[in-house]
Amino acid sequence: MEKKRVAVVGAGVSGLTACKHLLERGCRPAVFEADKLLGGVWARAPDCTSLQSERPMYQFSDFPWPESVTEVFPDRRQVADYLDAYARHFGVLDCVRFGRRVVGMEYVGVGEEEVVEWEEWAGCGEAFGSGEGEWRLTVADAEDNMETHVADFVVLCIGRFSGVPNIPTFPQGKGPEAFDGQVIHTMDYAKMGTKKANEMVKGKRVTVIGYLKSALDVAAECADVNGTEYPCTMVVRTKHWIIPSYYAWGFPISNLYLNRFSEFLIHKPGEGFLLCLLATILTPLRWLFSKFAESYYSIPMKKHDMVPEHSFFEALATCLIAITPKDHYKRLDEGSIVLKKSKTFSFCKEGVVVEGESSPIKSDIVIFGTGFKGDQKITNMFTSEYFQSIAVGPISSTVPLYRECIHPKIPQLAVLGYSESLANLYTAEIRGKWLAHLIDGGFRLPSVKAMQGDILEWEKFMKRYSRVYFRRSCIGLLHIWYNDQLCQDMGCNPRRKNSILAELFEVYGPRDYVNLHPK
Ligand SMILES: Cc1cc2nc3c(=O)[nH]c(=O)nc-3n(C[C@H](O)[C@H](O)[C@H](O)COP(=O)(O)OP(=O)(O)OC[C@H]3O[C@@H](n4cnc5c(N)ncnc54)[C@H](O)[C@@H]3O)c2cc1C
Repeated sequence: MEKKRVAVVGAGVSGLTACKHLLERGCRPAVFEADKLLGGVWARAPDCTSLQSERPMYQFSDFPWPESVTEVFPDRRQVADYLDAYARHFGVLDCVRFGRRVVGMEYVGVGEEEVVEWEEWAGCGEAFGSGEGEWRLTVADAEDNMETHVADFVVLCIGRFSGVPNIPTFPQGKGPEAFDGQVIHTMDYAKMGTKKANEMVKGKRVTVIGYLKSALDVAAECADVNGTEYPCTMVVRTKHWIIPSYYAWGFPISNLYLNRFSEFLIHKPGEGFLLCLLATILTPLRWLFSKFAESYYSIPMKKHDMVPEHSFFEALATCLIAITPKDHYKRLDEGSIVLKKSKTFSFCKEGVVVEGESSPIKSDIVIFGTGFKGDQKITNMFTSEYFQSIAVGPISSTVPLYRECIHPKIPQLAVLGYSESLANLYTAEIRGKWLAHLIDGGFRLPSVKAMQGDILEWEKFMKRYSRVYFRRSCIGLLHIWYNDQLCQDMGCNPRRKNSILAELFEVYGPRDYVNLHPK
């Protein structure tokens, strides 16, 4: 294995943990990182951005947060420092080639017709296939000089919430071109750095489009800079469960959603008759849990007519939940943030036109907090039209990744970090471990057909509970069920607790997997 050439693309959470586990297996991967900094989204988020997951859930099993960090939701600098310390501690930093963007990848050595026909992944179900195929990566440096790098296996860790912004489309003459002011994306705002960004918005009428994490953070910063004199307007298409903490009526809601018992309340991919029956019988309890949380979290929302139309449970199932920036509702009450609810919007010379208002929202700057096109980013990596056409599947299906990592028809390659959970670092780590075991020859993948069948089962699950958001590939509410499968593949005991009661009712988190050592 040490002679095999493994390339990791990206040095965010996923790339770092993938590299760490490969190093443990005696493989020294080359990690290509486009940025000059390590940490992915945490290197560039606005300063006011904090974790959304509670710290104990967003930690590597074998690398606890330093004692100096006591916040439940550490800020983005603390997260970046933590990742930096992890990379140094495990020797990952030495493998990272900063300022190296992979601009294209080509699979060579085996003809495409043969690859299409393979019934076993990579021809034989093993990480390096028959040994004939390899990946050629075209890598650009900061001056756009290109070099070719050859790898026997590629781990794509390019992230989902950066790179390719999701900008809505508009009819001719109704888009940003009609507007006299400045239009940027939250990504551009974050890249500027806090000082410059604050200078840019100072004394300006800012309109932020969107009502999820990045939009909320940017709006909070603008409101803090301009106060009520120049309120920041947020255009909200969909109301979301934006909550202050994971406690409802003083009760930790993780106890309702992140233990084995809570997973009995949900229909699972590939479940047998008994589990199916149990999930059906327990459905009212799931409804009750959701209502319990909603009854608490909706209190401040009601005042601003911001109670979502979908249930709290659905928000968790889709990973579409956010922690409010500190004092969010205070800013709404004092008027430094103004909300405009509108299903559609367009631009005019003076600003943004929303439904039900005769005059536009007069603006100097409009900031799109409308997210990213993470799937397009994956497609763009491939030079082959065939891989481009299958990489992320049609929009009517989920992104087809077995164990949320392996595309059944793309050999010698894994994608880490596309599929989400409620604590992505925790999920990235166990995936990194699983992948390193596969690459080290610890197990073989099932046939292409079997993998596709499994993907379909997960797709049914996503569609059942996530409705239109199924492509978010969020496994958050079934993280234990999912981890069980990875543990089984690695030949490890998936039951990580000391007693049946703990197994059923205690929250599962990173520390439960601290002694997971696949042989
Ligand atoms: C504002 C914000 C807050 C968040 N809060 C939470 C949270 O509280 N909890 C949670 O679980 N998740 C959160 N997330 C999700 C977050 O994306 C994940 O937790 C995690 O950091 C993702 O890590 P990653 O390595 O998969 O991707 P990224 O962090 O996006 O890293 C990808 C890396 O790949 C590099 N790269 C991309 N393309 C190329 C290329 N072609 N060549 C070379 N390098 C490339 C990028 O430069 C980047 O460094 C948040 C995301 C954002 C944006």
